[in-house]
Amino acid sequence: MYYAAPVAVLIEELTKLPSIGPKSAQRLAFYLLKVSPESAKNLADAIINVKDKVGFCKICFNITEEDTCEMCLDFERDDSLLCIVEEPQDIVALEKTCSFKGRYHVLGGAISPIDGIGPEDLKIHELLNRLKDGKVQEIVVATNPNIEGEATAMYIAKLVKPFGIRVTRIASGLPVGGDLEYADEVTLSKALEGRREM
Ligand code: ZN
Repeated sequence: MYYAAPVAVLIEELTKLPSIGPKSAQRLAFYLLKVSPESAKNLADAIINVKDKVGFCKICFNITEEDTCEMCLDFERDDSLLCIVEEPQDIVALEKTCSFKGRYHVLGGAISPIDGIGPEDLKIHELLNRLKDGKVQEIVVATNPNIEGEATAMYIAKLVKPFGIRVTRIASGLPVGGDLEYADEVTLSKALEGRREM
């Protein structure tokens, strides 16, 4: 009631975005009111384009403009090594480390009974299908180091071991520059578990 109707609609839509509360939404809406029509159109077009042109890779469920993503098409990658992640953006994070040269598989989330997400809601069936040709020798489970990610990792390990495939979990430790006293128990116990010979 304080705003013109189109502004109220914009604020309402912005509020639906992650980490955007009503105040941030209002700030963004008023910012957009001030920008040039061209800038506003560029933003709107970018959103429409991403929805029109980007889909999921038919093999690994990474995001791609084609049927199959670049990671799956890359001949130089190691077929014997498969890294499992929750979301496509996790691939970006791992690629930035330049330390993984295998293939990926995106689950599309993690098992979370509270949110009503079970194994059948994730790309686990598709994962098992990928293992049938016997190329994969090791699975690196890189789900998030939280309760849901740990539960998902354990579920997958149990499912995959009968295939005779080695299953490893990335060691999750303390963030560099962090203080021990501020680390939560899950992080700290994982850091202890993942300790290596010096
Ligand atoms: Zn792919």
